Amino acid sequence: ASGYSLLRDPHHNKGLAFTEKERDAHYLRGLLPPVVVNHDLQVKKMMNIIRQYQVPLQKYQAMMDLQERNERLFYKLLIENVEELLPIVYTPTVGEACQKYGSIFKNPQGLFISLKDKGKILEILKNWPQKKIQVIVVTDGERILGLGDLGCQGMGIPVGKLSLYTALGGVRPSACLPITIDVGTNNEKMLNDEFYIGLRQRRASGQEYAELMNEFMSAVKQNYGEKVLIQFEDFANHNAFDLLEKYRTTHLVFNDDIQGTASVVLAGLISALKLVGGSLADHKFLFLGAGEAGTGIAELIALEISKQTNTPLEETRKKVWLVDSKGLIVRSRLDSLQHFKKPWAHDHEPVNKLLDAVKLKFSVSPEGVIFPHLPINLPTVLIGSSGAGQTFTKEVVETMSSFNEKPIILALSNPTSQSECTAEQAYTWSEGRAIFASGSPFDPVEYNGKVHVSGQANNAYIFPGFGLGLIISGAIRVHDDMLLAASEALAEQVTQEHFDNGLIYPPFTNIRKISAHIAAKVAAKAYELGLASRLPQPENLVAYAESCMYSPKYRSYR
Ligand code: NAP
Ligand code: MN
Repeated sequence: ASGYSLLRDPHHNKGLAFTEKERDAHYLRGLLPPVVVNHDLQVKKMMNIIRQYQVPLQKYQAMMDLQERNERLFYKLLIENVEELLPIVYTPTVGEACQKYGSIFKNPQGLFISLKDKGKILEILKNWPQKKIQVIVVTDGERILGLGDLGCQGMGIPVGKLSLYTALGGVRPSACLPITIDVGTNNEKMLNDEFYIGLRQRRASGQEYAELMNEFMSAVKQNYGEKVLIQFEDFANHNAFDLLEKYRTTHLVFNDDIQGTASVVLAGLISALKLVGGSLADHKFLFLGAGEAGTGIAELIALEISKQTNTPLEETRKKVWLVDSKGLIVRSRLDSLQHFKKPWAHDHEPVNKLLDAVKLKFSVSPEGVIFPHLPINLPTVLIGSSGAGQTFTKEVVETMSSFNEKPIILALSNPTSQSECTAEQAYTWSEGRAIFASGSPFDPVEYNGKVHVSGQANNAYIFPGFGLGLIISGAIRVHDDMLLAASEALAEQVTQEHFDNGLIYPPFTNIRKISAHIAAKVAAKAYELGLASRLPQPENLVAYAESCMYSPKYRSYR
């Protein structure tokens, strides 16, 4: 290849870091200024550039340009500055990027499959230059973060998620494939936007939708085999649960919004117990939002309590109550509920408002109290998974704080604008007593002379390590017990020092080490369940996971 094309190939380009010898051997003389710099200096220079931009979206664009110019520099930057750059390549900035994707669009990233491609999906997959794919993140753009239907412009999400698979989980970039399935959009703003990049029609649904998805799923298996991980991302819940149900027995599928969120929140709760005391079964959980995230988390909590107490799932589910846009989910609503909400329809009078639900002493079961050692039955944990911002009002937080010494409050909705409350509100309204974490990051808050650092309850802790665990074990199916294993692994990474600061998640700075631990536990579970195909089982799974992780170090070209 010519030196000129080498400089334009992001997988191989090193920019000014090409050595003298490489410049001679690869026809690069004259195409670069004389100076030779090292990788570290390149990182320093690029961080200076990024920090000069005031607007987050400009930082995002600078990062995307870098990814397209010099992939190894992009990943080194991201890995070494993860706390600073995560909010740029991921929530919240990626949300704004998707909203404006059409206007800022320069080079296509990932693979676009639209309704027009029906019957040709296998051919399209073959157009992708990389053949050995290990992880696909796919969206249809219908529920991008808490921002709703962004149609084809949802592509920012699979691209961003996969860059985290590499940076946080160590999956090789060339093994990652972002895909957007365009079946139209019901977003009027997009349909009327002259720069919109997708099909200008309303969303296909029903059989037409199912057939396209089915062709896609078959084509993926045909082209990449049994062991490619397909992560469903930001599908609307009316499709998400069905897709997971339909393909979980035939493909290696994982829905991050349902399963990844559940695993990361359970991890946070396990570690929060160290601060508030008691076991999971001693607590009472109230959710605002009963969609993918809400019911996914609820189910994993109930499963964990069921395993810990040897109690049937039908009983442990009664520890968890959910409020949706129509109020508390109760038995009298059963007939009109979507199927994923039905297990949560407990016996109670209808309740419309969250505030009233917070004050309720729920009856735990019709036969009486199943956990009689519980003194009161008021919620101890409040979880926001509604996508609706500012819904944890002052009164809601104050009420939670009136009967809990340390109320656990998780505002999971993304991006920041959709967060159920801010960190400052949670600490102020609880008089500094809340154990708080949020989906998108907040700056530390000073209250009454004490600085509160809140954690980020975000599935970015789980999915990269989870995926790595599946890959290194050659897993062929995802099992719920793997989610529990991942939660335990993450919770184990929270140290006394973190607890002393009120944190229930470890900082992202150590995320690659954390991911290796998660991967090891997930892989161990895959072996235990007979779902692993990479045999024999490596002796030390943590060391093995670490040895498999991609490093952004430059290679030398001789
Ligand atoms: P979803 O499936 O659409 O569910 C949203 C739920 O919230 C629905 O039950 C909806 O009620 C309810 N809801 C909406 N507005 C409400 C309001 N004003 N009051 C009460 N309930 C309301 O969405 P999802 O996938 O669960 O995601 C929800 C949010 O969680 C999004 O903002 C997403 O970004 C965030 N999330 C965060 C993470 C993380 O890692 N932190 C992970 C996944 C998702 P109906 O059912 O009645 O419509
Ligand atoms: Mn998501």
